[in-house]
Amino acid sequence: MAYDDTNIFARVLRGEIPCDKVYEDDFALAFRDINPQAPTHVLVIPKGAYVSFDDFTATASTAEIAGFLRATGEVARRLGVAESGYRILANTGRDGRQEVPHFHLHLFAGQDLGRMIKPVGK
Ligand code: AMP
Repeated sequence: MAYDDTNIFARVLRGEIPCDKVYEDDFALAFRDINPQAPTHVLVIPKGAYVSFDDFTATASTAEIAGFLRATGEVARRLGVAESGYRILANTGRDGRQEVPHFHLHLFAGQDLGRMIKPVGK
């Protein structure tokens, strides 16, 4: 899938749409999800134009991947949830129900997040 630079997160990156920023560096921007699914729900997005986790891991440079992952850990520490714990999720593609076609990680925290996913067949 080609990158669509009109997607909402591309517009956030360009400053066309405001966000509730929690962290920014050369590789990543992190901001609070507009529709939080946990007491702390932050999205971490790379600065580069990547559609999905698949696209990012296949085509981003090693420096971008390392910088982005390091930034995500830094976000968790700055949010004060590194010790209590958190969950990181990347919805990817149709079956992953990815809605915004700019790669992003969800970071959930602030309560016991429960089991990860329903067991198959239940
Ligand atoms: P998904 O693509 O399914 O992994 O999720 C996209 C996420 O982006 C959803 O949790 C939305 O609530 C969130 N979202 C959409 N627009 C905005 C926005 N302008 N600011 C913050 N979060 C947003």
